[in-house]
Amino acid sequence: MTKQDYDVIVIGGGNAALCAALTAREGGASVLLLEAAPRAWRGGNSQHTRNLRCMHDAPQDVLTESYPEEEYWQDLKKVTGGLTNEALARLAIRASAHCRDWMRRHGVHFQPSLSGTLQLSRTNAFFLGGGKALLNAYYRSAEALGVHIRYEAPVERLELDHGRFVAVYVGDERIAAKACVVASGGFESNREWMREAWGQINGEWVADNFLIRGTRFNMGVLLKFLLGAGADAIGDPTQSHCVAIDARAPLYDGGICTRVDSVSLGIVVNRNAERFYDEGEDFWPKRYAIWGRLVAGQPGQIAYSVIDAKAIGRFMPPVFPPEKAPTLPELARKLGLDAQMLVRTMAAYNAACRPGSFDHTALDDCATSGLAPPKTHWARPLDTAPYYAYPLRPGITFTYLGVKVDAQAAVHFAGQPSPNLFAAGEIMAGNVLGKGYTAGVGMTIGTAFGRIAGTQAAAAALNQGAARAAA
Ligand SMILES: Cc1cc2nc3c(=O)[nH]c(=O)nc-3n(C[C@H](O)[C@H](O)[C@H](O)COP(=O)(O)OP(=O)(O)OC[C@H]3O[C@@H](n4cnc5c(N)ncnc54)[C@H](O)[C@@H]3O)c2cc1C
Repeated sequence: MTKQDYDVIVIGGGNAALCAALTAREGGASVLLLEAAPRAWRGGNSQHTRNLRCMHDAPQDVLTESYPEEEYWQDLKKVTGGLTNEALARLAIRASAHCRDWMRRHGVHFQPSLSGTLQLSRTNAFFLGGGKALLNAYYRSAEALGVHIRYEAPVERLELDHGRFVAVYVGDERIAAKACVVASGGFESNREWMREAWGQINGEWVADNFLIRGTRFNMGVLLKFLLGAGADAIGDPTQSHCVAIDARAPLYDGGICTRVDSVSLGIVVNRNAERFYDEGEDFWPKRYAIWGRLVAGQPGQIAYSVIDAKAIGRFMPPVFPPEKAPTLPELARKLGLDAQMLVRTMAAYNAACRPGSFDHTALDDCATSGLAPPKTHWARPLDTAPYYAYPLRPGITFTYLGVKVDAQAAVHFAGQPSPNLFAAGEIMAGNVLGKGYTAGVGMTIGTAFGRIAGTQAAAAALNQGAARAAA
C-alpha cells in the first residue's frame, strides 16, 4: 500500500516532534505525525519534564535576574568537558531567549520554579502542569492547525535515495512525503542495545541493572536504521544522562519522583558497605547527574544513601519512603548489608569529620580529614537516630549517541547534508551534549532544533513542489 498525501512526515510524539510538526504546519506544509506510543502514553520522555533552560539578559516573567548567552555557553562547555559543537550549542542557547512567546501561542503556560528544584529560578522556566500539560497543549494546537496524528504507528524503516528521503514504512504500509523530520528519541529503552553498549564489568552485564526513567518507546529503531544507512554518527553509546534513582522504581516511566536527593547529606555505600566517592564534592545540582554512572561502576550496580535524623526535611523526599531503623546494625540488616562493615565504615567516617559550620546552601567548611575517599563539604557525623537509607540504581534519562546534523538540522551522510531529511531532539542531542548535562538543556535542544527542522522540512517540501509545478 502506498500513499503520498503529505508534504512533511514527522516521526515521534515528544517535544521535538511536536515543535517540528507545528512549525512545518505554520510554514504552510501538510503534516503527518507518527507516534509509536498509544495516545495515553504519547509524549515520550518529554511528558516527564518540568522545565526549559533559557538565556535572558534581564528578569523576564518567571525568570529572575539574568542568564546571558556567555554564561549559559560556559556552563555547557564545562559540563560537556568541551565535547560539544559550539556553533550548534550557541544556536540552541540563542533560540531559548525567544521560544517562550511561540510556546505560549501554542497554549503552554509557565510558572516560577518550584521549591526543592535544585535552585533553578534564575535559569529555568517551569511549565505549569509539567511536561504532560505542555504536550497536551501542543497536541491540541497541532490538531487545531490540521496536523494529522497517528498513534501506535511505529516507523520501522525509511526509504532513502542517496541521502534523500523518499518514504517511511509502518509495518508493510509505505507512506511517501516530500520531506521528513526524525524526532524519535534516543535508544535508552532498548535494553539489548544498552547491554551491548555497556558490556560486562567483572562478569556482570552492567546495563541489566539500569532502570529507565522515561518512556519504553524509545527503542532507537530509526537511530540504528540511519546509522546503518550511512548517516554520520555523533557521540558515544555509553554516554547518557544517568542519575541515581530509588532502586524500587519501576523499569520504565518512574519519572522525576524516583530521584534520590539525599546523597550530599550523608554517606553512600556499595553492597560491600564501603564508601566509593566524595558525596560532598559540589552542590547537588552540579553533581546529581554523575551519580548514576558512579552507581553503575559498583558491584551489582547497587548503592545505598545513608542519612541520619538531622538530614530529614533538608531534601525533596522521593516517592518511596526510606528504610528506617533505630540503630545502624538494624538498618544494615534491613538493607541486606554486612552490619559490622557498615558500622566500621560509619565509624571511620564519623571520626574523620572535622568541626565546621554546617551550611547546606554554601560550599561549607565541614570536611573529612584523612579519609579516602574524602567528603569535602557538609560532612557531619551521622550520629542521630533514627537512621535512614534509600537503595540506589542507575536511572537512565536519555542516551547521547545520535546522528550528525548542521545548523539547518539536516542529517549528514558522508559529510553531505540531506536535502529533505532532518533530525531533532534526543536523536541529535549528542551534537551539543558529548557528555554531562545541565538541567533543562534537553528541552532547549529539542525546542530549538524541532523548530528549525520543521521550518526546513516545510521549505524543502514546498520548494520541491514549486519546482515540480514550474517544470
Ligand atoms: C524523568 C525525566 C525528567 C526530565 N526532565 C527534564 C526537564 O525538566 N528539562 C529538560 O530539559 N529535560 C528533561 N528531561 C529530558 C527530556 O525529556 C528530553 O531531553 C526531551 O524530552 C527529548 O525530547 P524528544 O522529543 O527528542 O524525545 P521524547 O520526548 O522521548 O520523544 C520521542 C518520541 O519518539 C517516539 N518514537 C520512538 N521511536 C519511534 C518510532 N520508531 N516511530 C514512531 N515514533 C517513535 C516515542 O514514542 C516518543 O513519543 C527529562 C527526562 C526524563 C526521563
